[in-house]
Amino acid sequence: MRVLLTGGAGYVGSHAAGMLHRGGHEIWVYDNLSEGHPQAVPEGRLIVGDLQDGPKLQTVLREQQIAAVMHFAASCYVGVSVTDPAAYYQNNIVGTLSLLDAMRAAEVDKIVFSSTCATYGVPEIVPITEREKQDPINPYGFTKLAIEHALADYSHAYGLGYAALRYFNASGASEEISIGEDHTPETHLIPLVLQVALGQREDIKIFGDDYPTPDGTCIRDYIHVDDLATAHILALESLEPRSQLRLNLGTGRGASVLEVIEACRRITGHPIPATVEARRAGDPPELVADARLANQTLGWQPRYDTIESVVASAWKWHQAHPHGFGQVE
Ligand code: UDP
Repeated sequence: MRVLLTGGAGYVGSHAAGMLHRGGHEIWVYDNLSEGHPQAVPEGRLIVGDLQDGPKLQTVLREQQIAAVMHFAASCYVGVSVTDPAAYYQNNIVGTLSLLDAMRAAEVDKIVFSSTCATYGVPEIVPITEREKQDPINPYGFTKLAIEHALADYSHAYGLGYAALRYFNASGASEEISIGEDHTPETHLIPLVLQVALGQREDIKIFGDDYPTPDGTCIRDYIHVDDLATAHILALESLEPRSQLRLNLGTGRGASVLEVIEACRRITGHPIPATVEARRAGDPPELVADARLANQTLGWQPRYDTIESVVASAWKWHQAHPHGFGQVE
């Protein structure tokens, strides 16, 4: 299939791009490189462009005879979305509406959209099913939820087929093609803990140990980035015009911050000093997916189903690329 991946130079997008490319699909990555890494994109497949450049998007969609879009391009730091919501509403909502308009004009009627468990806010019932109320607690979650609504409305009105894939905590790295997680600034737990093991950071700060969880630290569902990529491809292949899929993507197993640090200690052999700090604003105590619907709908089953396997794959990437994409080792 001829697929355009917006944000395909980013973390999850580049893993999906690599997997589609290896699977023989004709892909193009459309990315403004504000966060992405050109080195993460399969050779010769990058078009540098902005989502808000509607005419350029339309030209690419038409000239490359694109059949479907995977839309990863977005601003995705929860904390920054609180301090700078304008950028989030602009990039995530205005940018996506520009993409949807270009798709309508070019008659592209299938899209797989990166949504998030942040659309649920603080869930009442964990593990979280897709029936849980979507009630975000930060601007990032609001922008993603707004687009889920837009997709449903466009589907009813214009026949768009879409899948909104609600990721839990994307983690790990591809074992096949030397790409992995490299954010600036890095705020995610696993890469930060592994930076301690690499000697780049003195210790890891634990944001709160007084949550209502068994060990007092927050519980998250760490889903491997290649498992996310697989789900995107299955969703893409299942889409028809007017399809509406809304699916959670997680392992169904939670790991606390302390359990993640312990797993990193076991895998790296480094003592990884940790200190407890105040809670980080906007962190729900526990986010774990009930991903049975994705299994039933797509036959999707995560291959990395333990925190150890996820951390081990991240560790391989960080050891091989201690400075991410920034420097040739
Ligand atoms: N966390 C932490 N110390 C850090 C970074 C993160 O204790 O230096 C915690 C954070 O509070 C959350 C969990 O680790 O409970 C996962 O955070 P991350 O930023 O990786 O993902 P998020 O859940 O925010 O998407």
